Amino acid sequence: MKYDYIIAGSGCAGLSLLYNLLQDSELNKKKILVIDKDIKQKNDRTWCFWEKEAGIFESIVHREWKTLEFLTTDFEKKFDLEEYSYKMIRGIDFYQFVLDFTKKFDTVTFCYESISAIDSDSNNGTVITDKATYTGDFVFNSTPIFNPEINIKNSLLQHFEGWEIETKEPVFDSKVGTLMDFRVSQKYGTTFMYVLPTSSTIALVEYTLFTEKLLNKKEYKAELKKYIKEVLKIEDYELVHEEFGVIPMSLAKFERSPKNKERIVNIGTAGGYTKASSGYTFQFVQKQTKLIMEALKTGKTPNLNLSFRGKMFEWYDKTVLDVMISEKMTGKEIFSIMFKKLPPDELLAFLGNESSFWQEFKIMNSVPIIPFMTSGMKQLFSKH
Ligand SMILES: Cc1cc2nc3c(=O)[nH]c(=O)nc-3n(C[C@H](O)[C@H](O)[C@H](O)COP(=O)(O)OP(=O)(O)OC[C@H]3O[C@@H](n4cnc5c(N)ncnc54)[C@H](O)[C@@H]3O)c2cc1C
Repeated sequence: MKYDYIIAGSGCAGLSLLYNLLQDSELNKKKILVIDKDIKQKNDRTWCFWEKEAGIFESIVHREWKTLEFLTTDFEKKFDLEEYSYKMIRGIDFYQFVLDFTKKFDTVTFCYESISAIDSDSNNGTVITDKATYTGDFVFNSTPIFNPEINIKNSLLQHFEGWEIETKEPVFDSKVGTLMDFRVSQKYGTTFMYVLPTSSTIALVEYTLFTEKLLNKKEYKAELKKYIKEVLKIEDYELVHEEFGVIPMSLAKFERSPKNKERIVNIGTAGGYTKASSGYTFQFVQKQTKLIMEALKTGKTPNLNLSFRGKMFEWYDKTVLDVMISEKMTGKEIFSIMFKKLPPDELLAFLGNESSFWQEFKIMNSVPIIPFMTSGMKQLFSKH
C-alpha cells in the first residue's frame, strides 16, 4: 500500500505536522503513516517558547509568564513583556493531546518500528524499518538519519539537567520566570540556571551548559543541589520529576532536504530548525509546519527553500554561535550585553526570528564590533 505522507519520527515536529494536517478539511483525508521506535508515553521533556498570540497548542500550555528575569554577577534585570508571553508545554501533555485527537481519524496508521534507511526517487519516498519497507508521496523525517557530523570544531552541546521540585511552604513567585541566572561557576564554559515556577510551591530548576563535552552525571546533581540550597535558599523540598537533554548547537548544515532526494523533507532538529545559538526549537518547528501546510494546501512541493529573511536569521544565529565556539566571547558576556542594553521584547523578537531590520541594526550596535564582525564574515563565506 502506498501512503500519501509518511511521518518518520513522532516527536515535536512529527506530531506538530500530524496535528496540523488533521485540522485541515482536505488534507485530513490523506493516508498518513507515522513511524517511531518509541511509544510516546513519557514526560521526557518540557518545551518553553515565546509567542505573541495564542498558538495552535494553546489549550495545553501548562503555564505562562509575562515577567522574566536575567541575573548575572554584576547586574540583575526583571522585565515585563509587552507583546510576548513565555510559555511552557509539558512533553507528555503534547503527545497525549495529539495522539488522542488522532484517534478520530482512520486515515492515520501508527507503527512502532526502528527506521534504518530513508530514500527517494522523483516520485516516491521510501522508509525501511527493521520489519518492513513503506512508500509514500512524501516522507517527513525528524529522525537523525541525515544529520551532519557534529564535532568540537563546528559545534557546542547544550546539555542540561532539570529538576521539578516541590516545597511544603510557598517559596516561589509563580509570576516571575528566571530565563538565565549566570551567578554560577563558569569553569566549564557558558553555564547558567533556569528557574520556572509553576506555582508558589513547584518550580523547574535547570542547570544548563553550552560546552564541548558532557559532564559526569553526578556533577549536574551536585550543582542543582548547591544552587537550590545556597541561591534559592530552599532546604526542604521533594524532587518530583527529572529531565536530561542534549541539544546540538551547530554550525554544520542540517539539510532541509537531503541532496537529490526531493521526496524527503527533513523537519524539526533534523531540518535545521533548532536555533543554533540558543537551542530553542519548538517555536521554529511551528513556523516551519505552517509553511509546509501552506505548500501542501496549494498543491506545491513541501520541500521549501529558505527565504531571504530566513537566510539572514540563520547568518545572525551562526555568527553568535561562532563567537562562542571560537571563544572570542563567552555566552555569559554576550547575553549580559544584550539583556543590559536592549528592550526585552525586541531581544525576544530577534532571538525568535521576528525582528525588524531596524531592531537588528540596534542589536548589531549593542555588541562589540570586532568579534562579531570577524565571526560574521567567516560565516558569510562559510560552505556549511
Ligand atoms: C529534555 C529536552 C528539553 C528541551 N527543551 C526545549 C525547550 O524548552 N524549548 C525548545 O524550543 N526546545 C527544547 N528542546 C529542544 C527541542 O525542542 C526538542 O529536542 C524537540 O523535541 C525536537 O523536535 P524533533 O521533532 O526534531 O525531535 P524529537 O522530538 O526528538 O522527535 C524525533 C523522533 O524520532 C524518533 N526516532 C529517532 N530515531 C529513530 C529511528 N531510527 N527510528 C524510528 N524513530 C526514530 C524518536 O523516538 C523521536 O520520537 C528540548 C530538548 C530536550 C531533549
